[in-house]
Amino acid sequence: MKVYLDNSATTREFDEVRKLIYEMSGSAYGNPSSLHSMGLEAEKLLKLARKKVALGWNADEDEVIFTSCGTESDNMALFGIAESRKRKGRRIISTAVEHPAVLEPLCRLEQQGYEIIRVGVDKECRPDMEALKNSINEETILISVMAVNNEIGTLMPIKEIGELKAEYNEGKGTEIVFHTDAVQAFGKLRLDTKKELKNVDLMTSSAHKIHGPKGVGALFIRKGIKLPPLLPGGGQERGLRSGTENMTGISGFGLATELCMRNLEERTAKISAMRDRLREGLSSEIKDIRLNSPEDGICSILNVSFIGTRGEVILHDLETAGIFVSTGSACSSNKSRQSGSHVLNAMKLGKREIEGAIRFSLSEFTSEEETDYTVLKVKEAVERFRRLGSFR
Ligand code: PLP
Repeated sequence: MKVYLDNSATTREFDEVRKLIYEMSGSAYGNPSSLHSMGLEAEKLLKLARKKVALGWNADEDEVIFTSCGTESDNMALFGIAESRKRKGRRIISTAVEHPAVLEPLCRLEQQGYEIIRVGVDKECRPDMEALKNSINEETILISVMAVNNEIGTLMPIKEIGELKAEYNEGKGTEIVFHTDAVQAFGKLRLDTKKELKNVDLMTSSAHKIHGPKGVGALFIRKGIKLPPLLPGGGQERGLRSGTENMTGISGFGLATELCMRNLEERTAKISAMRDRLREGLSSEIKDIRLNSPEDGICSILNVSFIGTRGEVILHDLETAGIFVSTGSACSSNKSRQSGSHVLNAMKLGKREIEGAIRFSLSEFTSEEETDYTVLKVKEAVERFRRLGSFR
């Protein structure tokens, strides 16, 4: 049996998406900038895809820019705002548990003289809101806090952070911009930029996390927010990101978003039920574990520490049984290899909890049978490790 439980890393494309990409490659391959009818046809498809991706944010079409991935969208937002607001201030507030696509640009900005505040989190990965609030000052130009943590699944209080920002902006007449990396939230939560998230200015998403193709992402840019061009050139994507559009990728992204949003509640209820089944199975079958994901986290992520084991060894053991998972640490830097996941460290978990962490990430394709098989094989792998150590 093959059980794919690494859906936070990437997902299998929907069949409908694969079919669309295949068909488009053979016939609708025009360049949307061309003046002839094939160009016009491509332009229509581009507009349609933009409308569909906008659905995922309840945004207007002209608030969506296509990029090559979530990482690019994050870079565009962070470097763009830092550059355009550098005369207004130099402080950027974020958290210690962001994805490297945010952490690394922030490190670079720090080297360029920006002041980066990395707010800490508690044992469930929830940010210290008091500290965040107290860090906002006149120098602050940007707040960037992810919507859902990719290792733990904790839902971050982005509505509340948006409100804090709006309150501060109103009182002081300043213009702090709020960006959220919503890569793990998009297509799984209703993100409404007209209601609850009306104070979010920039938001990142990525197609391959929602059963769309790899190599395409998007950035929501609220009307009125100005960014400098990331790639100057032929003027595509409102001049912000030149380069001939990845038409098959973009259309596949549009379709994947449409499919996710069409029956969102039904899909996420199904994923939640499998996540709960997995959590209950592991909890009842295996002793000495720590459930690192909060019960009210995103439906797709369950992070568990098997105390007295090494996540990496368990991962490879499970692989031999056809089960694909990841460890808590997705980071590749030497520092994180030595000390484990930066997220689990920020949550102040103990060394043994960090060492023994595994992230199971589910999708709507995860079945009861797969879940039960996983519980069985994890139990065997953990017991084997506890008996023999890493010398299997
Ligand atoms: N942000 C978060 C929270 C993610 O989980 C990921 C991917 O794992 C990214 C950004 C990067 O997305 P992409 O792979 O599309 O660059």
